[in-house]
Amino acid sequence: MSVLVFIEAKSKVSKAALEAVSYGSKIGSTTVITYGNINEQELTVIGEYGAEKILVNRSLNESNDQQLTNLISAAVDHTGADVVVISQDQTGKSIGPRVAAKLNAGHVSGAISLPETANGFVVNTNVFSGKAMAKITVHSDKKVISLLPNSHAPVKTNGSATVEEFNADLGEGRIIVKELKTQGEGIPLPEAELVVSAGRGLKGPENWGIVEDLASTIGATTACSRPVSDIGWRPHHEHVGQTGIAIRPNLYIAAGISGAIQHLAGVNGSKVIVVINTDSEAPFFKAADYGIIGDAFEVLPRLNEAFKKFQSSQN
Ligand SMILES: Cc1cc2nc3c(=O)[nH]c(=O)nc-3n(C[C@H](O)[C@H](O)[C@H](O)COP(=O)(O)OP(=O)(O)OC[C@H]3O[C@@H](n4cnc5c(N)ncnc54)[C@H](O)[C@@H]3O)c2cc1C
Repeated sequence: MSVLVFIEAKSKVSKAALEAVSYGSKIGSTTVITYGNINEQELTVIGEYGAEKILVNRSLNESNDQQLTNLISAAVDHTGADVVVISQDQTGKSIGPRVAAKLNAGHVSGAISLPETANGFVVNTNVFSGKAMAKITVHSDKKVISLLPNSHAPVKTNGSATVEEFNADLGEGRIIVKELKTQGEGIPLPEAELVVSAGRGLKGPENWGIVEDLASTIGATTACSRPVSDIGWRPHHEHVGQTGIAIRPNLYIAAGISGAIQHLAGVNGSKVIVVINTDSEAPFFKAADYGIIGDAFEVLPRLNEAFKKFQSSQN
């Protein structure tokens, strides 16, 4: 099977993009399509994760849904790809359905498994906010798979890819990106392996020092529940859940968060969940791997001290 993987142009290729390349290479012979000023070093990395060929369009410089859709569809014509893989990140959520419509292809949104091809082309997805799983059978000749970030670990193969310039008629973009604001330093939430998160139980923004201290000790990214960002205690890019960012870190520490279904929808793919809550009946304990019934104002500093002690014992 011939596979085309789309990668968003960035100075550093994201973990989600490498997951998509690695995933594509498990399905078949993989070509990557990307654009902009992506540098040689990053192109080499893409080859190390299973791509055989990389097509680069240098004329497009900014993320523009219509033009990206045209670019991917032109690359499908060029390569004859049967399957298109796109990471279901912010850009992927927007262009996956557009690409599928343009190619008249069946679309799997939020794939969490490789396709089973013994009997058709069947891919698993999360549904009902992660409460259930659906098996989607795609009947069309062309298939578009939007891969849920953190559902397929990237595997380094130490291969290498040939790189080709790729020009295509991209048409006019119907939107213009006027300004891009980045969220600052640190590992972005969708890529973080370790996350320390807090909710309304922290009582106010002035108390977030204990959350940040623990995060800084273990090298984690901070997150929060929705009400906390809605009332302006924390920035919106920290909000996780059904209407926020969906994350799947190795470790999710949640302090003073009740564990409402809408919060769990964005975090229940975490490998290990640690819940700190004063209320032993808090629903979050049902989803927790480790639960601490206690006051976050006592437990977070004690955890921080314990991690620091452990770290210094390792030096
Ligand atoms: C359509 C819709 C979409 C939504 N999307 C999201 C979403 O994406 N993400 C999201 O998070 N929410 C979302 N919500 C809101 C969600 O339903 C909950 O209201 C919200 O998650 C609760 O936030 P919280 O746990 O911080 O606050 P609360 O529900 O107020 O819980 C605070 C918790 O802190 C505990 N606590 C209090 N003091 C302490 C202490 N000192 N130490 C330890 N624990 C303490 C309490 O026992 C309690 O369990 C959505 C709601 C709707 C209707």
